[in-house]
Amino acid sequence: MATDYASAVRAGTMAAGRLHRELGMRELVETHGGNIDVFGAISELGLPLMLRPLKGLLGAYLPSPVPGLLITTERRMSIQRFTAAHELGHYTMRHLPSLDDESILRRMPTSPEPTGLFQETEADAFAVAFMMPKWLILAHAARQGWQVNDFRRQNVVYQLSLRLGASYEATCRTLQRYALIDDSTPIALLDTKPKPPKPLKVDLLQDYQPENYHGDVWLLTAKDAGTRIDGSRDDTFVLRLNEHAGGGYVWDFDQLEASGFAILRDRRENADHEAIGGPVVRRVTAAVGDARWGHVTIAERRPWAPEPAHASLDIDFDVTGPEQKGLSRAERRLRFEEA
Ligand SMILES: [Zn+2]
Repeated sequence: MATDYASAVRAGTMAAGRLHRELGMRELVETHGGNIDVFGAISELGLPLMLRPLKGLLGAYLPSPVPGLLITTERRMSIQRFTAAHELGHYTMRHLPSLDDESILRRMPTSPEPTGLFQETEADAFAVAFMMPKWLILAHAARQGWQVNDFRRQNVVYQLSLRLGASYEATCRTLQRYALIDDSTPIALLDTKPKPPKPLKVDLLQDYQPENYHGDVWLLTAKDAGTRIDGSRDDTFVLRLNEHAGGGYVWDFDQLEASGFAILRDRRENADHEAIGGPVVRRVTAAVGDARWGHVTIAERRPWAPEPAHASLDIDFDVTGPEQKGLSRAERRLRFEEA
């Protein structure tokens, strides 16, 4: 085990990279899009996992009699995923037993470890590098057309955090760690309560007012075509798609509804106020409704001549988060496919 902070961070980061290679995680994400499936990795390693309400703890790693992980069901999915990645780090690095509370979420470089062993620093560095590797952040930025300067904007960091399956706060700190934002930016990004800032959600939802703003709000555009969405039951999706109305094309959201999603708002915005019959933006707001997981294709067609479609947006989704008591979502999907 490392004996100083810097080598602990290095060791944790390298162990995460090794496990990515061993499990072919990068190829998987580059082919299927989306985030790093932390619970899928735990399942693939055959590592016993127990999901249950935990008092005062986010998770635990117990090396004996057989190694196993314990993760709380009482938190949002981003926190469950980070905790699972942290405990997976303990397992991968053959650490001593660890009972982990909130401190794993915002450990500071200077905070001393009670054991003096730096195993918590190693596990945190592992979790960051495993769940939010730099290549994944850059891949999302390339797909979305974000430049490094855009990472100063709260709405960009928020949408990035959803695609990483990480909390807004963890995403800010990781951007700083990779020097993708300068040292003073996280203060501006994080100087808000709640995190992520509520105005970001209000802006996206416009006149739709949910019961509360705890759930996340995804902004999906044509740039998200072919990707995978890993969401939670209280998430809302705002789809903004250019519609070639002049050519008689309209987006058809029947499949979205057939998949169980509930359409809350559906309207058209003029992309260019000057041009009549020019491009419009179709803006649809949808709640999870009865959707669970699957594949959905939304196509832009001429109603009187449906084929060929002018454009389409297809997305794999699992909106059953957060993890609940019993099997992980990854295990549930696996058993369902095998059945
Ligand atoms: Zn720990």
